[in-house]
Amino acid sequence: DAQDTSATHAFTVEHATNPLDDATREAALENPKFGSHFTDHMAIVSYTAARGWHDAKICPRRPLMLDPAASVFHYGQEIFEGMKAYRTQHGDIVTFRPRENARRFRDSARRMAMPELPETLFMQSLESLMACDHAWVPQGRGQSLYIRPFMIATEALLGVRPAREYQFIVIATPAGNYFDKACVDIWVTEHFARAAMGGTGAAKCGGNYAAGLMAQREAAEQGCDQVLFLDAATRQYVEELGGMNVVFVRDDNTLVTPRLTGTILPGITRDAITTIASYLNLAVEETQIAIDDIFEGAQSGRYREAFACGTAAVVSPIGRLKRRDHIVSFGDGESPGPVTSSILENLTDIQYGRKPDPYGWVE
Ligand code: PMP
Repeated sequence: DAQDTSATHAFTVEHATNPLDDATREAALENPKFGSHFTDHMAIVSYTAARGWHDAKICPRRPLMLDPAASVFHYGQEIFEGMKAYRTQHGDIVTFRPRENARRFRDSARRMAMPELPETLFMQSLESLMACDHAWVPQGRGQSLYIRPFMIATEALLGVRPAREYQFIVIATPAGNYFDKACVDIWVTEHFARAAMGGTGAAKCGGNYAAGLMAQREAAEQGCDQVLFLDAATRQYVEELGGMNVVFVRDDNTLVTPRLTGTILPGITRDAITTIASYLNLAVEETQIAIDDIFEGAQSGRYREAFACGTAAVVSPIGRLKRRDHIVSFGDGESPGPVTSSILENLTDIQYGRKPDPYGWVE
C-alpha cells in the first residue's frame, strides 16, 4: 500500500564511526548557540510513489547526494517541523506534544502535494534518533535539543508537477536561550506580506521563510529584532512574526491573539498557552486584531504586555513595537510583564517535568 498509513518500520542503524568526542560535545552543550552544532546521527526514510515509505534508517550525519534536477531545488517542495527534547530533573528525555508536530507535518505535506508521513513513522524516527544521540540533550536550565524533521522532493524532474520521490530526514541541534535579551523589539512591516488567503501561510514550508527574509532585513535596518506581518489584503490586521505567533495581554486579564484563518501557522506553543490560560485565570480571545488598536492600546495601557511564542524561544516578551516612525512600548519596554513571565514559567515547568502535566503533552 503506497499510502502506508499505519505500518511500523524497523530502522536499520549505522553508528557514526567518529562521533564528536565527549569533551568537545560537553563544551558545545555548555552554552549552545542555536543551530551551530549538530548531533552525530540523522534519521532518513525514503518514499517513492511505487513503494510508499521504505528504507528507514539511522546513519551518521553527512551530506546528501542529490541530483541537480531534484525538484526541491526548482519548485520548492519542502516542509519541516521544529520541536524540542528536554532532559527532566530525573535525567529522562521527553518531548513536548510530538504528535501535534506529526499532525501539522501531515497538514503541511497535503498543502504542498507531498506524501503524508504516518504518525507512527514520525514518532519512530524521533525515538530511533534519540536512542543514538541521547548524550546531546543538554542538562542546563532553559537548554534542550531542538529537533528538525523535514521532507524534500528528490525526484530528478524539470516538469512542474508533484514529485514522485521524497526523503524524510531528521537532524537535531542543541539549544540554549534563543534570544540573548530579555525583551525583543518588533518592526511592523507594511511593505511585505507573508501569506494571503488561499496561499501557504498555514503550512510550514521553506518558501514562507524565504519570502520573509527581506522583511526581516528591513526590521534589522530599523533596529528591531523581529518582524510582525500584517494581513496581505489590507495591511490593517495583525498576523504573526516570521517564526512565532503573537499574543497581547489586555488589562481585563485577557490574552488576545489572531484567530487561525489559514494565513498564519497554527503554533503548538500558541495552542498550549491558550489551553493553560484558564488555569492562570486568563480569558482568551482569538479574533481579528487591528494594528491601530494595538498601538492605541499600548499607549493607553489597555494592552499591558505582549509576547511572541514558538518552540525555539517558547515565550519572548515584546518590549517595543515600531511602525513607520511610531514606537510604542509595553510596560517599561525592557523587562517582561507578570503575565508573560507566569506563562513562560508554567509552560516550561510542564516541558521540563518540574510540574505535573495534566494535559498529557509530555511523552
Ligand atoms: N509561526 C511561524 C511562522 C513559525 O515558524 C513558528 C515556529 N514553528 C510558529 C509560528 C510557532 O509554532 P510552534 O509553537 O509550533 O513552534
